[in-house]
Amino acid sequence: MAGLASAVALAQAGWRVTVLERAPVFAEVGAGLAVTGNGMTALAALGLDAAVRAVGYETVPAGYQDLSGRWLKRFPETRPELRALATLWGLHRRRLHGVLLDAAKAVGGVELVTSAEVVAVRPGTPGGEPASVTWQTGSRAHRADADASLVVAADGARSAVRAQLFPAVQPRYGGSTSWRAVIPDSVSDSRLVGVWGPGTEFGALRVSDAEIYWYGYFRHPEGAVFDDELTAARERFGTWAPWIRGLVAATPADRLMRHDVYHLPQGLPAYVSGRVVLAGDAAHAALPTLGQGAATALEDGVCVGRMIAVPVRAGADMAAALAAFDHARRPRCQRIVRTSAAPAGWLWPESNRSGQGSKPSNHCHARNWMICTTLPELCLRGPDAPISAFCLAISPPPGQVWSLFVATPGSAQGFHRVGLAGVMLTKLSSAAREFRIDATAAATTSASGPPSSATAPGIVPAST
Ligand SMILES: Cc1cc2nc3c(=O)[nH]c(=O)nc-3n(C[C@H](O)[C@H](O)[C@H](O)COP(=O)(O)OP(=O)(O)OC[C@H]3O[C@@H](n4cnc5c(N)ncnc54)[C@H](O)[C@@H]3O)c2cc1C
Repeated sequence: MAGLASAVALAQAGWRVTVLERAPVFAEVGAGLAVTGNGMTALAALGLDAAVRAVGYETVPAGYQDLSGRWLKRFPETRPELRALATLWGLHRRRLHGVLLDAAKAVGGVELVTSAEVVAVRPGTPGGEPASVTWQTGSRAHRADADASLVVAADGARSAVRAQLFPAVQPRYGGSTSWRAVIPDSVSDSRLVGVWGPGTEFGALRVSDAEIYWYGYFRHPEGAVFDDELTAARERFGTWAPWIRGLVAATPADRLMRHDVYHLPQGLPAYVSGRVVLAGDAAHAALPTLGQGAATALEDGVCVGRMIAVPVRAGADMAAALAAFDHARRPRCQRIVRTSAAPAGWLWPESNRSGQGSKPSNHCHARNWMICTTLPELCLRGPDAPISAFCLAISPPPGQVWSLFVATPGSAQGFHRVGLAGVMLTKLSSAAREFRIDATAAATTSASGPPSSATAPGIVPAST
């Protein structure tokens, strides 16, 4: 995602680009994705929003259920301001990747090379010696290298380039693994429904008129395998709501995939080194709890174009452009990584029957009660959603918050509402400030070229 988005953005700015892909073909297996508004803004900035809308499914989150299918929170669809905040696009990863690939082929100036595994990078010096990339071909018998003015390292969470440039930063297992599948379905609820059980979240959303994407995200030892994944999934969700059992039962074995989930909670000291810029999961792999991985990878691509490619081509200093990129992207993306990790400890509490995942613990009941009594705005998930700030505020250590509620049972609900309303107001005003920064940068961009580092936005709106 980040690599192709960057390639398109660089080529749109007039650069010649070579994309090196380790796989023998440019293709994306994967399952589904929920792309939030910021991801669609980035696609619009690349001129690809219409193409992505055509292959995706616009929807909204419906709310949350417990594992029996009882609604804990429903989002009122009649409230336009909530809908505007919450709209997302269900996409098959292959189709999103296809749109980016077609754009890279169409834009001109992009060479796509497959079976090319990058094994080493010499970062070079901005304003001095060029960077250099070494890769081996599919057979591994042959090595090639080339110099470059700029290297965008978008080689995923297990990035070889990051390992070379920042060896101390290693991806960490997040404690959960995820089953995912896209299956034929034209009758289920097309909205994103999240279902919370002990140590587990199930979710489903429509990715086309005829397909639904479901995921089952659950705590599990790293690398542990099941003899039969589909049977294990059916057992895991065997006591859950009928509609969930139905989706898992309708899943063919060859559609089911499972991946352990890694992230970079410690963050990187910089997203740039010499003439190398890290993008996407290579820079900021996050847990999928906020559904921000693809969206921020796309944002990175736009920012590589607008903050590095455009100004450097116009004669700006490469070192300054790289520093501006780092300055704009690192705080935002590190915050998203931290915020994505924050809910993991308390939204997905451990089962009190380890491994069974069926009997809710008191922790689960307390969490469900909180969701039931919380204003809908506070339950929306996203990088700028109030619940993200709340999760960050209480984690760690979550125990303190629970003990507060336990200590004040009579006034807990009132306290809870007042406290969260405060968080919401703070958060909404901070989101508004971020938007004003973006708007200022947008005005600067249209009037006098790309934004300066002082006003550099996390993402430049499409209208620019
Ligand atoms: C279970 C799960 C659910 C998720 N759900 C969502 C969601 O709903 N919404 C969302 O926005 N995000 C989601 N994500 C995150 C999202 O999938 C990633 O953040 C996104 O794919 C990152 O894109 P990327 O381009 O940085 O990396 P990748 O998509 O991993 O691409 C890296 C590319 O680099 C290639 N490569 C790797 N090493 C080399 C090398 N040495 N040389 C050459 N090529 C190399 C790989 O083959 C690959 O093509 C989810 C992730 C997981 C695990």
